[in-house]
Amino acid sequence: MEFVAGPPARWHLTLKDGTLLELWADGYGIVNGAYEFSALVRATEEEQGQAHVLARTPSDSHRVMVAVARLATGSVQDVHTASRPSHDGACVCPGLPGSSAGE
Ligand SMILES: [Zn+2]
Repeated sequence: MEFVAGPPARWHLTLKDGTLLELWADGYGIVNGAYEFSALVRATEEEQGQAHVLARTPSDSHRVMVAVARLATGSVQDVHTASRPSHDGACVCPGLPGSSAGE
């Protein structure tokens, strides 16, 4: 299985209890009240059977969008693409609320 769109972006999700979740995905959608993160990959039929496939490319059966993570929107306070890796489990992206770095 390989990433089609290059290395996935880094995302920061701040949960309601203040926990920071850092994950890597191409993007996300909101489906049935949950954030659904996904990545576009090239995968064999066998690999697709082991992943949760969200969408397929009609013209290319090996190009699929697989689920990476799912979280109820109600448990998430903030979502952003991370400009910096987390530090000691905290977001240090500049210029974001809740960031300890500031601008
Ligand atoms: Zn951040």
